[in-house]
Amino acid sequence: MWYMNEERQLMLNVARDFVEKEVKPVAMQIDRTSEFPMKLFKRAGELGLLGVTVSEEYGGLGGDQTTLALIMEEIAKSLPVLTVAMGAHSLLAGGLLDMLGTPQQKNKYLAPAASGEIILACGSTEAVGGSNQIEFTTRAVLEGDEWVLNGGKVLISNIGVADVYVVLAITAEKIDPVTRGGFSAFIIEANTPGLNVGKAEHKLGWHGSATGSISFKNCHLPKESLLGPLGGCMQAMFVSATAEFLSCGPVSLGVAEGAYEMALKYSMEREQCGQSMFDRFQVTRHKLVKMYTEIESLRSLVYSTYANRDQGELCLATGRMLKIKGAEVSEYVSREAIQLFGGVGTVVDTGVERFWRDAKVMAIGGASVEALMDNIATLIKNKMV
Ligand SMILES: Cc1cc2nc3c(=O)[nH]c(=O)nc-3n(C[C@H](O)[C@H](O)[C@H](O)COP(=O)(O)OP(=O)(O)OC[C@H]3O[C@@H](n4cnc5c(N)ncnc54)[C@H](O)[C@@H]3O)c2cc1C
Repeated sequence: MWYMNEERQLMLNVARDFVEKEVKPVAMQIDRTSEFPMKLFKRAGELGLLGVTVSEEYGGLGGDQTTLALIMEEIAKSLPVLTVAMGAHSLLAGGLLDMLGTPQQKNKYLAPAASGEIILACGSTEAVGGSNQIEFTTRAVLEGDEWVLNGGKVLISNIGVADVYVVLAITAEKIDPVTRGGFSAFIIEANTPGLNVGKAEHKLGWHGSATGSISFKNCHLPKESLLGPLGGCMQAMFVSATAEFLSCGPVSLGVAEGAYEMALKYSMEREQCGQSMFDRFQVTRHKLVKMYTEIESLRSLVYSTYANRDQGELCLATGRMLKIKGAEVSEYVSREAIQLFGGVGTVVDTGVERFWRDAKVMAIGGASVEALMDNIATLIKNKMV
């Protein structure tokens, strides 16, 4: 592949070995029990997979974005939810810490996050709608030397298992409807009085991502919990969210490949009238070729976008496109994979339908693809693509 080099191959080998020996054997069990994959998450930290792009100064590998994409793709082939937990930790919360943190904050939170010593979560979404920030109500008020938070967040990943939450709150009189100025980010340790953590929801897919609500009732935080400029965190949030949308490209690619590989193997092995389904039915062959074509088209988009990202481009529009296209391709390929299995494809223990459930959530979790299309339209209108 044109995007491979020796360093990337080395890290990919580490991820492959981890997936083969430690992730694959428990993937079905995690989907069935919805347990957060704590052991795997910690192991990923030990292997450096949680701090791939974090600078070496803060305990990361100082690697590039393409390396991260290769690792995400590899893990998602077997256990997509692990990449989701990694995304909330490293890209959303970790991204904000990296961009906005003071050296003290980075030493205290980013470095142990990169090694997996602590787990991070990022709370933005409120009950009024993920992209409807102008109606958010979670507010932080400075009282003497402390910030006091009140409000609540919904559908937040890594709740309960997180040691630290990075949370968005209003600190201005009014939110600017255009720039969304008036929001600030805060670092909240999990044991802070006034922070209440709800139960993980039972979801269609991404079983084990520990997604649910958190709320704040007179939650007192030290003044130094403010992360970044007062009232001015939205630009960084846009960038860290873009990193998460970008990662949906390789994750979707992995989901599609996982489902395709199962369907191909099954179609070659299952026989009727002395012939494999692959040899017997043209429609089976054509479905597989179409699935393969979609996968390879997505691969091109993913790695050309990551190459641009490695050249310093923010990829605001193309990053969002990766999430949109990735959700579409992974949902299509995994749906067709179930179809090629016939009746047993609908049986949970077969292990193919979980890819479709995970793909479906991809189109909503983190941001709905419709909201992202509107973002891209705005970027086009403002000549920012
Ligand atoms: C599994 C999972 C994990 C998540 N993890 C996190 C997390 O870690 N942190 C976090 O902060 N949030 C997280 N979220 C929340 C996620 O960001 C929101 O679910 C998403 O932004 C959609 O918001 P909503 O659910 O409020 O839907 P709504 O805003 O109610 O939207 C419903 C539908 O209306 C349409 N719509 C809404 N807004 C627009 C728009 N602007 N333009 C066009 N159409 C629109 C879309 O079709 C959308 O699907 C997670 C969600 C899920 C499902």
